[in-house]
Amino acid sequence: MNMNTRNKEAAVVVFSGGQDSTTCLLWAMKHYREVVALSFDYGQRHRAELDCAREIANELQVEWHVLDMSLLNQLTPNSLTREDISVDEEAPDEGTPNSVVDGRNMLFLTFAAVFAKQRGITDLITGVSQSDFSGYPDCRDVFVKSLNATLNLAMDYTFCIETPLMWIDKADTWKLAEELGGLDLVRTRTLTCYNGIKGDGCGRCPSCRLRRQGYEEFVRRYGK
Ligand code: ZN
Repeated sequence: MNMNTRNKEAAVVVFSGGQDSTTCLLWAMKHYREVVALSFDYGQRHRAELDCAREIANELQVEWHVLDMSLLNQLTPNSLTREDISVDEEAPDEGTPNSVVDGRNMLFLTFAAVFAKQRGITDLITGVSQSDFSGYPDCRDVFVKSLNATLNLAMDYTFCIETPLMWIDKADTWKLAEELGGLDLVRTRTLTCYNGIKGDGCGRCPSCRLRRQGYEEFVRRYGK
């Protein structure tokens, strides 16, 4: 595959302003002539997430939209949206972590699909990964394929959901960001921390620990 050929027409990227979706945005910019980034406002505890998304889209000169999904918080109170529920510091032994918003990826992709079809766009990009599957069922490949088929049937349209990170781990996600010329951007400008701190984050929450472990493994694996 020629990484430098922007031979595809247009894509909508589900974009949170975090490490994974920012890497996907850079990936999309490499492969598509037209890229639209789509963020969702679902009452995130940290509004900084949307600010990061806006800043990154601005810097990359990518068209950016934010859709109101505040109903998610009405449906599924959880630690990412509710101040009164604290984020689990450790992953639970069984069940899903309390940072799960049931059906979030399904809803985001579905709204992204409706948005894309309006624009005559077929390709949807999402940063979900089965490799670091940690209790999020709608990050799995089987789910994405199933939803792709469902969306096609629902709208009588041929969507193509692309998942550049599906089979790579966090270390190789850093590697991909580097290959795409975005290592510094992803390191310093994205927000993955559950406590709302940009870049390297708080260092304590599960998301920060995963991010740091991935970066350290990237350094080890590729001798940076
Ligand atoms: Zn953190």
